Amino acid sequence: MTLPSHTTRDVDLFIDGAWTNGAGDKWLDNHNPATLDVIGRVAVATEADLERAARAASRAFTTWSRTPPLERSNILRRAAALFRDRAEDISRAMTVEQGKPLSESRLEAELAAQIIDWFAEEGRRTYGRIVPSRHPDIQQHVIQVPVGPVASFAPWNFPLTQVARKISAALASGCSVIIKPPEEAPVCTSELARCFVDAGVPRGVVNVVYGVPSEISSYLIPHPAIKKISFTGSVPVGKQLASLAGLHMKRTTMELGGHAPVIVTASADLEGAAKSIVLAKYANCGQVCISPTRFLIDDSVYDEFTAAFLEQVKSIKVGDGLAPDTKMGPLNNERRLAAMQRLVTDASEQGATILAGGERLDEPGFFFQPTVIADLNRNSALMNEEPFGPIAILLSYRDLDEAIAESNRLPFGLAAYAFSDSAKDISRITAGVETGMLGINHTAIAYAETPFGGVKDSGYGSDGGLEALRGYLQPELVTIATH
Ligand code: NAD
Repeated sequence: MTLPSHTTRDVDLFIDGAWTNGAGDKWLDNHNPATLDVIGRVAVATEADLERAARAASRAFTTWSRTPPLERSNILRRAAALFRDRAEDISRAMTVEQGKPLSESRLEAELAAQIIDWFAEEGRRTYGRIVPSRHPDIQQHVIQVPVGPVASFAPWNFPLTQVARKISAALASGCSVIIKPPEEAPVCTSELARCFVDAGVPRGVVNVVYGVPSEISSYLIPHPAIKKISFTGSVPVGKQLASLAGLHMKRTTMELGGHAPVIVTASADLEGAAKSIVLAKYANCGQVCISPTRFLIDDSVYDEFTAAFLEQVKSIKVGDGLAPDTKMGPLNNERRLAAMQRLVTDASEQGATILAGGERLDEPGFFFQPTVIADLNRNSALMNEEPFGPIAILLSYRDLDEAIAESNRLPFGLAAYAFSDSAKDISRITAGVETGMLGINHTAIAYAETPFGGVKDSGYGSDGGLEALRGYLQPELVTIATH
């Protein structure tokens, strides 16, 4: 399956238990963002394909939802084992089509396997409860019922973990799924889906469609067979899909964008903070919804922290993700490259200081330098728009209330970080910052077993932990008179 950068490979849809190139025989090109080579094609689903997928998911739901959780769990565990066996090839394919360094792809693959394993286990614990009744001859049972076939939309920044989260949470709770993985990373995601198929997931339980995202969502969301929508992507698209789902009274999980603040107080271990936060900032070329973005630094340590930060940034080697010394790959697509150039130009025009980077590399791929910008005007685009790229914004603050107010200024509320050795400051930050996830003195906030989701415009629901499973289950009251 290995996909060296010079070979091409076509990716089919997977509908009702069979791989197919779709009714329209239409294809989109798949590019390597480091070389801009066309490395294959991905099939485009037509309405006829989507209809077949919806019917298949609906038929399959009737049996999968009644399959004992232990049996479902065993199949998921087999999928995780198969995926681990194939992880090296799949990781390489992801690097070639998505751009991230191979070391990051390998880590992501391991995390994806852990996600499948975790949902396999947790799906065995979808317990209901007994509510004591007001009458001795009445029993009240609350049972957890799978909601039905799900339409899921996964993004291109973390193709493996996002597809793993969406397929495994649905399957573990007894739902069937039609997943639209990213067209920007079709080889690795279809190979991940193949692991579920090879593990014995029955026909129709998992369906994989690629194509034009807006056509797929506008067909599937209103479709009567589909009972839940799960989307990870940008705020504007999320709002659009949530509105459409609302019109049809469909439940949704929306994991949208962010603009994560990082508060660095005077008591922080500045050197340690700079090391860990620079790693997190430039991972996946900054194309991460929880990427640390607005650094709010106590002005008494601003110069020291900035120097330590820039020292770390200097050591980032940008290059093709397959090269062993690469620390940061290219952006995934031309849209991101254009966005980085627009954001930096706007910041410069508004008087900001570019402390590092700020330009694309003189190479054919979508490479952009790791960039650090200071003295930004609050009205500049970067201070308001999710950069979703390798740009860090450094700002100073005088008192913590000012930093907390700046953290909460934007409509986003996905992730936030703080570095501090003061219990009092940590407690004020914890109480004051509006966020779905808060990392204090470290940045590892995305594990299989922990909730993953935001507040405000960053969405609702969770893609991780027990909370993710709850989104696929509906409590049903069964009350029985025994007299
Ligand atoms: P975009 O808004 O066009 O698309 C974002 C994602 O949504 C993509 O995966 C795309 O395939 C999908 N999408 C777009 N329109 C859709 C529709 N009508 N129906 C269903 N799916 C649809 O932006 P983009 O250029 O692909 O990505 C950049 C922006 O997306 C970033 O600014 C970032 O905010 C956001 N994003 C967020 C995440 C996340 O993890 N929350 C992941 C990827 C992208």
